[in-house]
Amino acid sequence: MRVGVVKEIKTKEARVGLTPAGAAVLVADGHEVLVEQGAGVGAGFDDHLYEQAGAKLTSREDTWNDSELLVKVKEPIASEYGFLREDLTLFTYLHLAADRPLTEALLDAGTLSIAYETVQDATGLPLLTPMSEIAGRLAAHAAATYLTAPEGGPGLLLGGSPGVMPARVVVIGGGVVGTQAALLALGMQAEVTILDTSARRIRELEALFGGRARVVVSDPESLARELAQADVVIGAVLVPGGAAPKVVRRTDLGLLKPDALLIDVAIDQGGAFESSRPTTYADPIYIEEDIRHYCVANMPGGVPQTSTRALTNATFPYLRRLAAGPADAIVGDPALALGVNTRDGKLTHHAVALAFADLP
Ligand code: NAD
Repeated sequence: MRVGVVKEIKTKEARVGLTPAGAAVLVADGHEVLVEQGAGVGAGFDDHLYEQAGAKLTSREDTWNDSELLVKVKEPIASEYGFLREDLTLFTYLHLAADRPLTEALLDAGTLSIAYETVQDATGLPLLTPMSEIAGRLAAHAAATYLTAPEGGPGLLLGGSPGVMPARVVVIGGGVVGTQAALLALGMQAEVTILDTSARRIRELEALFGGRARVVVSDPESLARELAQADVVIGAVLVPGGAAPKVVRRTDLGLLKPDALLIDVAIDQGGAFESSRPTTYADPIYIEEDIRHYCVANMPGGVPQTSTRALTNATFPYLRRLAAGPADAIVGDPALALGVNTRDGKLTHHAVALAFADLP
């Protein structure tokens, strides 16, 4: 199988879909690996590392056109649609339900597309979890950074200092993102409260944090109380397959301290705060209703070296099976089968099909 990896061309996206170590394994398996020149540089992998691994360096056009299986990180953007074709298998994040033009391009081309975010096994979404872990940790970093005065914040040190109170961090949604955000904030000595609606998850969080973080059932009363005392509020909710619930309404913003910071990690699913809109690392913060909002939609893209390793650790075993033959890999692995979004010009994932009832 000819396996290709191209350079990501979305703004400020430097992750890469395959590491040199992964390339070496594929070559040892008997595959040919094509790598677009410069594809791994932003993630810390110079071209010569891929060459040493036995991969062939090629141009962007040749990598797309000559690959039978193409691995990426982000969904193809419009300038890449022309490379989609019937005898291509594409393995990457796709987020099709929010992207009609890409969905139509994949269907028109007849490409077999497998989306990282819909691969699902008994543990959940194994190719999404590593990025949630990183986004959660980065949320604590963002909290520490943007509470400082030079970054426009109130001038608070997240963990306080001996004899001086720490900042209060309220995490809404105690799943993967929320847990990692809380762990890192606690590591920096912040005072942390986690709100969640799931009784089961609240029990798990109690056991995990052992009293170090306050774990509270999220209801209007607890939310209002916590918002009033928060220095930072982190939105980390998810309803699988759906848009994020608007937990903090625009009218709730009046409850906050004027210099509180909102960090909406759930922005990629529409956001947990009614007043949220997506931002990028180029301009991460905006002010709405006098409250600062941080809503970067691709937080892991800011740490491409770490994110690439975390992502490819999870994706590589699936990629290796796909390289051995996509059709057999899909039949033999129910988790991977759930990742298939388009095949032979048809939508094959129920959630995407629901979003586009008029498409085949
Ligand atoms: P998860 O499923 O592990 O956790 C979500 C938690 O939210 C669950 O514990 C659930 O019980 C809780 N929840 C649901 N509705 C709630 C409500 N109304 N109030 C309080 N809690 C509620 O999900 P995750 O992997 O932690 O992802 C969280 C969000 O972060 C998702 O929207 C995901 O897409 C997003 N995310 C964003 C980035 C980024 O770069 N911005 C990166 C990774 C993940």
